[in-house]
Amino acid sequence: MRIHILRAWVVALVLGSLPLSKVAAQEQVDLLLYNGKVFTADAMQSIRQAVAILDNRIVAVGGNALAERYSALRTVDLGGRLVTPGFNDSHIHVNGNPRRYIDFAGTSSIEEFKEKVKAKAEELGTGEWITGYGWSEDEFAEQRNPTRWDLDEAASQNPVIISRAGGHSSVANSLALKISGVDQNTPQPEHGLLEKDSRGRLNGIIREAAGMVSRFVPEATPEELRKSLIENLEALPAKGITSITLAGNSPSGFTEWKEIYDERWGMLPRATVQIQPSGESPEEMVFRVRASGLLTGQGDDRIRVGAIKIFVDGGYTGPAAWTLEHYRDQPDYYGYGLHTDAALYEIVKGLHEVGWQMGFHAIGDAAIAQAVKVFAQVLDEFPRYDHRHYLNHFTVKPPEETLRQMAKYNIHVSQQPNFTYTLEGRYIRNLTDERAAHNNPIRTVTDHGIFMAFASDILPIGPLVGLYAAVTRKGMSGKAYAPRDEAISMSDAITAYTRNSAYLTWEEDIKGTIEPGKLADLVVFSEDLLTIDPDRTMEVEVDFTIIDGNIVYERP
Ligand SMILES: [Zn+2]
Repeated sequence: MRIHILRAWVVALVLGSLPLSKVAAQEQVDLLLYNGKVFTADAMQSIRQAVAILDNRIVAVGGNALAERYSALRTVDLGGRLVTPGFNDSHIHVNGNPRRYIDFAGTSSIEEFKEKVKAKAEELGTGEWITGYGWSEDEFAEQRNPTRWDLDEAASQNPVIISRAGGHSSVANSLALKISGVDQNTPQPEHGLLEKDSRGRLNGIIREAAGMVSRFVPEATPEELRKSLIENLEALPAKGITSITLAGNSPSGFTEWKEIYDERWGMLPRATVQIQPSGESPEEMVFRVRASGLLTGQGDDRIRVGAIKIFVDGGYTGPAAWTLEHYRDQPDYYGYGLHTDAALYEIVKGLHEVGWQMGFHAIGDAAIAQAVKVFAQVLDEFPRYDHRHYLNHFTVKPPEETLRQMAKYNIHVSQQPNFTYTLEGRYIRNLTDERAAHNNPIRTVTDHGIFMAFASDILPIGPLVGLYAAVTRKGMSGKAYAPRDEAISMSDAITAYTRNSAYLTWEEDIKGTIEPGKLADLVVFSEDLLTIDPDRTMEVEVDFTIIDGNIVYERP
């Protein structure tokens, strides 16, 4: 910022000595992008060719004539490439990981799984625990679980325990089992299972009882977690993400994020942090949040306080989503809600009354219906203009009556279209055909006049998977198992991921579109998402990401 002020002085001095006509012809900006296809996401979804940026704002959007009107410190000839507003992931999980942790998202074979463990063992040295998360046998070419023997081959001198995606199963190696005192004679845990192979030997898979082993893993230091959190945040612009809403943190967690932003602003995406209440009772949860002194909207355009986050139910990786119809092939199982109506009402009332926005996790149709009923009741008793309460996930299409109530009470949705892609197997296993087909509905919801923004959650992070699934409604198998009538156009999908997300945090006047006066947050893509075959969406690359007027990512 200091540099910009200095530069403005120099420009003013130079301009001061020039005739007026010359001043008009030589307006100075910092960055000029021209000869592109600029998708503005404005009300008309206008397409332009050029954008001029001064300091941290967009000063002009128009045709290539801008290149004559402005002289820029850096000029980029886009060669026809697509520019969009920066992506705003309206529900994302980002945190710091210990050094010993491995992220297995996207690992496609047991061989690759073993390679990652081996590399970590080499990095950490003999004897250090190795942990990690995110393998799934569904994604492995071998189509089987990893075992203790696989891990022993990769790292026999390090104790290892790795959680499956969803977190309900883990695999441990022989050294980890030995350190934990788990052997052939260990009784089965009360809730869970130590799996054995056909010859009766422990194979390392532990269901629902990973604590038997993971309690021996040394705790990470706050410093290493913070360092990793910063790295994980700084990795987001490479995916085209310029703003995020963190899906839940404690009030003290918010303070830590604020410190990071005060220190490191410049390479980070803008962040809104949802506050997740804690406590033994609804009264205690409300009391603690109120006592924190925080409130939705506090902060600035770098970091701010978002909505209250409550889990109304679980999810399909459990599977623990709370549904109105029983799970496929499980006539007695409906998942379950996590709160009674009365408890949810106490929380919503107690925080809505003092001005908080709600942004609740609700996946199953029973959970969605419950949350909407409670929101409506509280809004009847304590009407508030422009509350912008919303539900996250919204996987199972709720009954017609619930959709109508949402439109009437202005309850919005933050939808993750990439779930349609990533969780295809889960939906097909747990939902009947018609319900699986309408998973994570888009058009049915917006056709009811319900406002919707997009997000990725963490499955995986990055907008391109979501855009692909929103437009094609295809799953990982490549098959369109979800009907086309829930699909939307690419331009609407990009708008949902940019302009609409800004609305959920009352920032629609400062970001989310490419218009003069808006914050200069933009992405340049390698190909034109608006015209390519939608099946190729995920092959498109992010070439540049600009946040606050600075190029924070440039593809090597
Ligand atoms: Zn989430």
